Amino acid sequence: MRRASDAEDTEETQRTQRNESMVSCYICSMKIIPLSEGTFTIDRTKLFVPFNLSSDDLQKRPTGSLLVEVQPFVVITSEDVLLLDTGLGFSDDKGVMQIHQNLMQNGINPSEVTKVLLSHLHKDHAGGVEKDVKTDHTTLTFPQAKYYIQKNELDFAFKKGFPSYLTEELEILKTSEQVVMLDGNGVIDGYIKYEISGAHCPFHQVFWIVDGGEKVFFGADEAPQLNQMKKRYAAKYDYDGKKAMELRQKWWEEGQKENWTFLFYHDVKNAVYRF
Ligand SMILES: [Zn+2]
Repeated sequence: MRRASDAEDTEETQRTQRNESMVSCYICSMKIIPLSEGTFTIDRTKLFVPFNLSSDDLQKRPTGSLLVEVQPFVVITSEDVLLLDTGLGFSDDKGVMQIHQNLMQNGINPSEVTKVLLSHLHKDHAGGVEKDVKTDHTTLTFPQAKYYIQKNELDFAFKKGFPSYLTEELEILKTSEQVVMLDGNGVIDGYIKYEISGAHCPFHQVFWIVDGGEKVFFGADEAPQLNQMKKRYAAKYDYDGKKAMELRQKWWEEGQKENWTFLFYHDVKNAVYRF
């Protein structure tokens, strides 16, 4: 599949790289930092198996395996340090969380994150919401942040459970005072718009961040990779594949008209794409 679109990919990569170099330029008001946790394949077992792009062979993975990146984003606006989804929640042998490590490598202390926006609570997006502190209690990973989640998504996670949701890690969201329960569509602090998209899972939400005349769109698993925005097809792993396909097309058209910046959580090559 990747081979067939090589020419197009090369062109896209060049364009994205050009765009990525603008990520922290003077005319853009927001700074966008992808925090990649690596490349993986995922199949029907819903396990994320690490994949080395230079030495592993996709053909040797089970039929139907998808090649994905897992990458939360930091968006620094004039108001906030936003974190968009929290990744897999993996830690290194010293017990340091990968997401903390990635933030610190970019000069951001985890306590500087002011808002965590969660698209949905699948384990590859919300794995890093809490941290085990090796005692009998756990804490949220970002001590100063407010966490924005859809109330119905939290309820749904506990109904549905494993393997898509790791509910024992989500328990803390039910009681923490740092959590802001959202119900439907709305706007946070006048500049972060959220909307239930409900196609990948019934209460999935997407975000638009508008600051200094720039509009950043985070579609998470409704708009996970650049090539999915261009090809019309319904994916089997979506709760409502047809709706997801239609949403992608609608956003891609609107994004083109309004010069949105797209953030692709699962794209191996194109994390950030600007029209
Ligand atoms: Zn995902």
